[in-house]
Formats: sequence, structure tokens, C-alpha cells
Amino acid sequence: MTIDSTADHTTRAERESETADSDPESAVETARRQLQHAADHLDIDPNIVERLKYPTSVHEVTVPIERDDGTVEVYTGYRAQHDSVRGPHKGGLRFHPDVTRDECVGLGMWMTWKCAVMDLPFGGAKGGIAVDPKDLSAAEKERLTRRFTEGIRSSIGPTKDIPAPDMGTDPQTMAWLMDAYSMQEGETIPGVVTGKPPIVGGSEGREEAPGRSVAIITREVLEYYERDLEETTIAIQGYGSVAANAARRLDEWGATVVAVSDVNGAIYDPTGLDPHAIPSHDEEPEAVMRQDAFETLTNEALLELDVDVLVPAAVGNVLTEENAAAVDADIVVEGANGPTTSGADEILAERGIPVVPDILANAGGVTVSYFEWLQDINRRSWSLERVNSELETEMVTAWNDVREAYEARDVTWRDAAYIVALSRVASAHEARGLWP
Ligand code: GLU
Repeated sequence: MTIDSTADHTTRAERESETADSDPESAVETARRQLQHAADHLDIDPNIVERLKYPTSVHEVTVPIERDDGTVEVYTGYRAQHDSVRGPHKGGLRFHPDVTRDECVGLGMWMTWKCAVMDLPFGGAKGGIAVDPKDLSAAEKERLTRRFTEGIRSSIGPTKDIPAPDMGTDPQTMAWLMDAYSMQEGETIPGVVTGKPPIVGGSEGREEAPGRSVAIITREVLEYYERDLEETTIAIQGYGSVAANAARRLDEWGATVVAVSDVNGAIYDPTGLDPHAIPSHDEEPEAVMRQDAFETLTNEALLELDVDVLVPAAVGNVLTEENAAAVDADIVVEGANGPTTSGADEILAERGIPVVPDILANAGGVTVSYFEWLQDINRRSWSLERVNSELETEMVTAWNDVREAYEARDVTWRDAAYIVALSRVASAHEARGLWP
């Protein structure tokens, strides 16, 4: 089938987006718009771009579990596999009440680009269960994870699709997944999942990696704009694993972290907070607002602080058409996946505020997942020093690839990252062809 992009017909993607609820923009809509935007700058076969707007497959499973009180509750889980032209599907698994099929598809697309921009031999996927993990006991969470693993068993595996932690899941969740999978296969298969505890094949430095990569990319972008890290103020939305680790590394490297937040609100001190003294969400849930601080703010007000760098590192869709004009930071570095809607992206671009995209900035997580997968296959673990030093090399290499694309064309940082990723994915599709 040939697709003439100039012909007067609507594509499946356009029809789907017309019928979708556009407020707030769904992850799949944002992801498709970003893909089309970047593709417009590249000489890529439009047939390949059209293929990349859709997932290869989406598995939807019913996940019934017995609650501690003996009643049965039924949840819905998904695993969206976007593309595997460069290697097995790879991506996180989230437990969150807002998980939908479309969200998994959009987030799975971002994983394809994230792996490609890092030049990892993986494709993209994302999964999740629509559940609030705060409502479940540890035993209920374990039953939910094991039952979900059973539901998606045939579509995952170390050479097929490798889940990892994401919002609402952690190394313990990954250990249950690995155990459930391995017990049915009759052998221990650590490579089916990454982000496990090191004692069962997890990698040193994996938990810290997404935050570390946000810090590395922030350091590089500041250097690019000839700004001194030691004279930089940074506001970080969130204080989960990504936000807390980014805050701690940036603080150690000399920057001044002036604001952080959790679901209850933000704390702000223009002279600088001590990120090491503030427990992350994993260390002590919702501890941010219990800290002594110069001032408390709402999460919305944090996004509008007059700082050098703003790092949205909590949830998606926080920078929107409504508040993008009020952003007062000089640079935005995306720590969360999809924190900026397409409308906000346009406003920030018009205002000349660089937005360094998620698919590059938080890619340290999947990069160390790749290191973990290599360690699992070889049954040999790496030291923390080796992990951090190889992560540093991979992040700086990817940054340089994106910087070259940015300098070569008049595009945004997001487009530049997409151009790097998309060229790799599209060339692989071209080489392999469409069959049968
Ligand atoms: N959930 C993480 C992300 O969004 C990590 C994925 C992985 O390690 O596979 O990048």
C-alpha cells in the first residue's frame, strides 16, 4: 500500500485523534504529533512514518485478585508493544489509576525513540494496570503482579519484551514478576525484567539512573548555553526516584536546588534546599511538605518560578497551553515522561525557552536497564563505578548526537532528539522491509 500524504483523505491516526477526548491531550496524541512534527524535517518514507504511528500489538488482560478481606477485585492491565525493529520491546510497567490503553501506546512509542536515541538494541513498549497502589497491601500488590505476569506471559521474555519499573512499581514488583515468570518456565530467567533488586540479578545504580541522567543532561545543556552550574538555580517538580536523584546529583555538582514538591505541594527556598536531607517518596512517602522551608507553594506555582532550569519530574501533561506563557525558567529539562503537551511545546518554542526532551533526559533508566540485561545474560555483575562511568559515556554520546542534529537544522531540542531516533528506526525498517 502506498500512502500519499498530500492526498485528501484522513488517516487512521487522524480519525482516532478526532474521536479521542482532547482535553487533556492523551499520551498517544502527543506522541503522534511529535512524531509527525519531527518527520516533517526529515526525508523519510511517509509509509514508514505511518507504520510508526501504531503499536505492533496491545495486550489487554483482566487481572482478578483476592483482597485481604476475601473479596475478589477485578482490574484491567495492558502491555502495548510499539516497535521491535531494532531489538526486543522494552519499557516500564506502571500501577496508576489513570493507566489506559492509549496512555500505554503513547508511552510505548516514546520508549522506541528513547532506546533509539541512546542507540540501544531495543524497541519500545509500556504496560500498566489501572489501580491506585496506595489502596493495596503488599500482599495484594504481590498477587496483582503475579496474576498480571501470568496474563502477559506469552508476550514477554528476555528476547521478546522486557518490562521495568515505572510509576507505582519498584524493584520488589520486578522481583515478583521475575519469580512468577521463572517458576512457570522451570528455570531462573533474570533477563525477563530489569530494575530488579541486585540480589536477584538487578544492576547496581539502576534505581538512581534516570535521575542521574537528568542531572548529566542538565549539566550538558547548561554548558552548551555557557552557563555555570555553580550559579544555576533549579526547580524540580516531584520528589520520587527521578526528581530526588536528579536534585541530589545537581546539588553535589554545585547547582542550587531551590524547590521540590510532592502531591501535597512544593517547598521553596531561594538560598537553596538540601536535597539529601529531604526523604524521597520511596524513602518516606509524601515527606516534602513536612520539611522546614522558607516558603510553601502549590505545584502549579513551582512551574512558574523564576529559575534558571525547571525540571518537571513528576507526572505527564503538567506544562499545558494554559500555563506555558507563565513559565519563567530559562531552560526546561523533562524528567517525567511527557510533561509538556504539544500546545505548550509550541508556546515555549515561540518564547525561545529550550525544552530538552524526556526521551533523552531521563533515558539513563533504560540505559542501565540495558546494562542489567547484559549482566543477566552473562551472569556477571558490574560494579557501581563501572555502571556510572558507562552511563556517563552513553549519555554524553547521545547528547552529542542530538546537539549535532540541533545545530545542523533549525529545530527544537525535541525535534533534534526525534530526528536522531527516527533516522535510526526508519533506516532499520528500510533495511528489513515490510513482510509478509
Ligand atoms: N520506565 C522507565 C522509562 O520510562 C524505564 C524503562 C526501562 O528501563 O525499560 O524510561
